[in-house]
Amino acid sequence: MSAKWPIGVFASIDAGLGVDLDVAKDLGVTTVQLHTPHAESRTPERIAEFHRHLDDLGIEVTCVFAGFEGESYADIPTVERTVGLVPKDLRDERIAELLDIAKFAGAMGVDTVGLHLGFVPHDASDPEYAEMVEATRRVCDACGADGQRVHLETGQEPADVLEKFITTVDRANLFINFDPANMILYGCGEPLPALAQLGRFVRSVHCKDAKWSDQPGKTWGTETPLGQGDVDFRQFLRVLESIDYTGPLTIEREIPQEPERQKSEIGGAIELLQSLKAEHGL
Ligand code: MG
Repeated sequence: MSAKWPIGVFASIDAGLGVDLDVAKDLGVTTVQLHTPHAESRTPERIAEFHRHLDDLGIEVTCVFAGFEGESYADIPTVERTVGLVPKDLRDERIAELLDIAKFAGAMGVDTVGLHLGFVPHDASDPEYAEMVEATRRVCDACGADGQRVHLETGQEPADVLEKFITTVDRANLFINFDPANMILYGCGEPLPALAQLGRFVRSVHCKDAKWSDQPGKTWGTETPLGQGDVDFRQFLRVLESIDYTGPLTIEREIPQEPERQKSEIGGAIELLQSLKAEHGL
């Protein structure tokens, strides 16, 4: 991956709401973030098969995103209860699974794993906060030993809270996957100032759009096709330029795996991003 801001899509093989790899190929993208396949697909035989398929398609995986059984994004309180490493009774088993996913990523030649950590308490004096710091250090240290980076998905906390959390964890391989739409969906603040503030940690992004809820932070905002929501993508690219971000622009669209709908909506997103890239001479 050499050119600046290659366009990518969030893809999946057998789990998650990503685009099928053949659809990604038809759309002409050259990079994907991959939602981790189920455990039973993370075998050496399947890994070799995925490798061949990706090589045939000319697609590079830039990040493997973790996902766990039992996570639900039904509404904001359910996310707080079920997502990421926050649920206490599941934490050890999810860390073990995350490290297994990181091994899968390594076997796929991918040096980055991404995840939703879940709702970290906003108050640093909450005992749960210290436990999440420790859990994140365990993950970073294990991944770091294999030369891997860990990217935290944004959105579940305001920029100040995330910045404080990352500096407290204090690990050189801990970075951010910045998703501007999540800031809006979860009601956690204006995305563009957050991107500028967190810029030094941002190593991957999701190009996703959304409209604010009328009760931000209590109920979901609404995800939209790119360019139809409240994220100003022209400004988004300008802020990416200002923080010297050169990585992929990974389009994420959380809609069912209907190839025709994915092709038309993601095709529209690609056109928009290409026209905005052109304003930067790309
Ligand atoms: Mg995202």
